[in-house]
Amino acid sequence: MTIIEKQQELADFYWMIQMLQTIDVGLVILERDYCIQLWNGFMENHSGIQSKNLTGKELFSVFPDLPRQWIERKVESVFKLGSPAYSTWDQRPHLFRFKSYRPLTGCSELMFQNITFMPILGPSRRVEQVCLLVYDVTESATSKLQLEKANEQLGKLSRTDRLTGLHNRGYWEECLHQEFRRSKRSSNQACSHSSLIIFDIDHFKPVNDTHGHQAGDEVIRKVAACLKSTARDTDFAGRYGGEEFVLLLPDTDIHGAFEVAERLRRSIQDMTVTHESLELRVTVSLGICDFSDDLDTAYQWLERADQALYHSKHQGRNRSSVWSQDIAAEESVF
Ligand code: GH3
Ligand code: MG
Ligand code: MG
Repeated sequence: MTIIEKQQELADFYWMIQMLQTIDVGLVILERDYCIQLWNGFMENHSGIQSKNLTGKELFSVFPDLPRQWIERKVESVFKLGSPAYSTWDQRPHLFRFKSYRPLTGCSELMFQNITFMPILGPSRRVEQVCLLVYDVTESATSKLQLEKANEQLGKLSRTDRLTGLHNRGYWEECLHQEFRRSKRSSNQACSHSSLIIFDIDHFKPVNDTHGHQAGDEVIRKVAACLKSTARDTDFAGRYGGEEFVLLLPDTDIHGAFEVAERLRRSIQDMTVTHESLELRVTVSLGICDFSDDLDTAYQWLERADQALYHSKHQGRNRSSVWSQDIAAEESVF
């Protein structure tokens, strides 16, 4: 090799080293025994540890918090198969705990990383080292996470009634249909059935007419809050219409449902709604119907509960009624 060729080789070597040092990707070269051979500028900048303090040291002895088993599994497969292995941020958000310089509210303050484990072949074409490429994907990861969060909130909004925070009618009806199908499928099994409660505020028009719509809204909100605190996590509470509410009680028989209805009725009756200087009290009338095999549709189930509600109204309000064939016959007259 001539001196000129040697100088050229040296020049090539220098620009390559400079490139490795300045590239915006982390590079770590590991020997067979996990000793660090290269720790480039990106890794120095983000870890705060200089390469000279790491080279020749075993990776896990200097970074004891690293997921050793997981890294070993990846690296061993690269040595064995000679092909790259990958890990993306959604599988493992980060391998090295580096601070993110682009922290966005609500997202991780750590850098999200995609990692590639590359085989480095020696002259004998055997894998002699493994190179870890650490990509900073914080920006795309956080925007994806924010988009997912926004979509989730949007989905929640589309299922929620604005005034009360209860399920809105559309979503609640979906739940009702689902529960109806589930009950139909399991109707010949000896498990308990589900029940439905529908209720309506008594003499609500005068509240609006006398005290204004704002006062009426506050009453609706307080009744909804009462419903929420009465319902279990597994129940589905919804606002069906203006001042009409529904509660679907999975795995609750008619006796259990009647108890729930009465508890709800009493707590609303005992509640005082304060609006500006006003103190308002309201009562509700409730209708209850449990699932039965002869129901053809979910709407029919709801219609029966509604007949029971109207029975309560006609009986003088502030009461709970359980649907029966007699009630159906009576209410069909009205
Ligand atoms: P009843 O005891 O027979 O139920 O008598 P009621 O006066 O409560 O009669 P009804 O249930 O038909 O009254 C519904 C009233 O609810 C009419 C409407 O003005 C009022 N309303 C419906 N939605 C809202 C709402 O979002 N806010 C307010 N403030 N009022 C509402
Ligand atoms: Mg009413
Ligand atoms: Mg009504």
